[in-house]
Amino acid sequence: MMGSTHAAAGMLAAEIVLSVSHAPPIYWPIGIAFGAASAILPDIDHPSSFLNQRLPLGSSAGMALDHRHFTHSIAAAWLFSLYLHWLWPMVPSILLTCAVAGYLSHPVLMDILNPEGAQLLWPLPWMISLARILPYPLTFSTEDWMERVVLKNGLWILVIITVVQPKLI
Ligand SMILES: [Zn+2]
Repeated sequence: MMGSTHAAAGMLAAEIVLSVSHAPPIYWPIGIAFGAASAILPDIDHPSSFLNQRLPLGSSAGMALDHRHFTHSIAAAWLFSLYLHWLWPMVPSILLTCAVAGYLSHPVLMDILNPEGAQLLWPLPWMISLARILPYPLTFSTEDWMERVVLKNGLWILVIITVVQPKLI
């Protein structure tokens, strides 16, 4: 999936966390930003991803890691959570949870729609994809019309609506 699709899904995941936990309104902008930023992190393993092109070690990570393998796993999300709590112990836990929700949204909600799948249960070797049980157009490849037109725009419309009207979440 494209970075902008993942960012929108990460924002929605963060909004759900903020809503369910009844977080104070002041946390919403930061939590949503954390969700968006974290949601594009797993694709650091792809040579042409947004982060890979911009981070100092991005291209090294892209060469060292197989796409949609370790960084797209539950284990990586768990390590990411531990890292955030170690790095920013003073940041409210709910905001770090927004970041982890954004990260998890990438493989669990989005890339699982791709027929190539993601190695969610790393180190187990299976590439898990809903395409095994759901046909096109419910599952589709990156940059397919279904992603570019339907999913991406649908997610961004939902983000805008729920940011303006958070009670809808
Ligand atoms: Zn990905």
